[in-house]
Amino acid sequence: MALTDIDLVNLETKPFFKTQVRHLIDILYSVYPELNAYLFVKDSDQTFLLQDLPTNESHVFESILPEVPAIKEIQANSSTDSILILNQENAAIFSQDPDKWSQHSILSPIGESGDISGFILSILPESLSTETINLDVFNHVASSIGANSVTSNLLEQYKGRSDHLSVMLEVNTHLNIAATKTDFLYEISRFGKYFIQFDRAVLVLHPENTPEYFAIDSIEGDETGLQQGMSYPVFNSLVSRSIITGQYFVFKDSHESKPEGIYHTGDYQDYPYKQVIGFPLSKVKNGPGVLVLESRDEYPVKQSELSIFEMISQSLGAALTRFSLYERLNNYATIDTLTHLYNLRALKQRFEEELARAGRYQNSLVVLFLDIDKFKLVNDTYGHLMGDFVLREISQIVRDSIRTSDIPGRYGGEEFVVIMVNTDAEACMASARRICDAVREHQFEMNEISVESRISIGLSEFPRDGESMSELIQSADAAMYTAKRRGGDQVVKYEKGMVPKSRA
Ligand code: GH3
Ligand code: MG
Ligand code: MG
Repeated sequence: MALTDIDLVNLETKPFFKTQVRHLIDILYSVYPELNAYLFVKDSDQTFLLQDLPTNESHVFESILPEVPAIKEIQANSSTDSILILNQENAAIFSQDPDKWSQHSILSPIGESGDISGFILSILPESLSTETINLDVFNHVASSIGANSVTSNLLEQYKGRSDHLSVMLEVNTHLNIAATKTDFLYEISRFGKYFIQFDRAVLVLHPENTPEYFAIDSIEGDETGLQQGMSYPVFNSLVSRSIITGQYFVFKDSHESKPEGIYHTGDYQDYPYKQVIGFPLSKVKNGPGVLVLESRDEYPVKQSELSIFEMISQSLGAALTRFSLYERLNNYATIDTLTHLYNLRALKQRFEEELARAGRYQNSLVVLFLDIDKFKLVNDTYGHLMGDFVLREISQIVRDSIRTSDIPGRYGGEEFVVIMVNTDAEACMASARRICDAVREHQFEMNEISVESRISIGLSEFPRDGESMSELIQSADAAMYTAKRRGGDQVVKYEKGMVPKSRA
């Protein structure tokens, strides 16, 4: 989505947009809880004004002048990527009391390069090592705020027209809470029927990575003649033309001139719909997709109905952009950066979900608790980098040894938990032994140094060894500790009377 016409000023007058911005900043905090984020927005005097959003600390500045060197640098920058600013340069950003702000910080521009409309300033705490910072997270939050402002501007544009505005507000509120693309389409269809009569709504997406095809993403209505997930070449069809030009189309069966096809060449011949209207999800050429509304009957369509639907579909486009950005951001908050397994927070969440399901449907659920043997020795002998390397490699071994439906997470430093659903304990014992064997047989080789490693695994089973998450983890931990006491490098299934290390 092109971030044109970004107008972020006066956040106060845009409550809907403000809620979204808050939500995005919260995502930033959930990835890096200790930082302080501030949103600055350019006003008509070119000064960047601080917006009233949640921060972890009371702030000492209200505005930042465009002449400040760091701002000049991002203004002149030919990309809108975030920049990391280290201590000594930092003082230059702030006109007041620079000593107080001697930490590192990140500036993430919002808007078009060379003409930014605002930025997020994130002050990093001393405790956060700058090497572990993933600038993509900051880039995504900033560009997501930009994408949201596109919708917000559409709302502004139609403020004078109260009928349209109320519809847009309602549509956007619903788009905002819709969790999946199918929900989006459902909401659009529900609202759309107030304005345009149609029997089927089809969402066509045109992915950036395969520009020569578009795909039928979702269908609201019967699936006659169309298949969800099918992709068609962007070539000789009304939908294709709408993608290419960014303009809507209206097809009526009674018209003399026939198109090449609706979705693909020749398809209109055995096509059950008599009238089709397609709205691009963005006005840009080669845009992100088209919303297609199909009707069994022909009827006159008013220009005002077309223009309101043009807006609704563009809102849908902005919402979809936002949705995929949220999805990506959510990944950062749920995936452990070192091992790429679920982090503790996400692991616990998935665990609770699976446990509820297992309870409801009487499914089986098995928990593995893994702890690397004498891992401290690797760090002490070869250094932390080698330790990290071994951790990463073992995580990969774990992933390779389990089924895709299993849920592997990093429980602590060198401890992992795997949740296995819909399988019996015997099969899980076999998977666990496979992990043990694979770790033992693997040569961990980095910079021509080769080390070996061993792992101990404990196994517990729902509901036999515990009914809650903490009971099941404690039982698996106790079994793992028993494996350690028996010499490590083995799998032990929990039996009554085994105790975890903390209670031994
Ligand atoms: P054992 O489990 O066999 O009882 O011995 P151990 O040496 O593995 O003991 P323990 O589990 O208590 O040690 C954990 C060590 O793991 C401590 C710490 O040095 C190391 N560790 C934890 N997290 C990380 C990490 O992210 N990277 C590296 N390199 N080391 C880590
Ligand atoms: Mg340990
Ligand atoms: Mg250990």
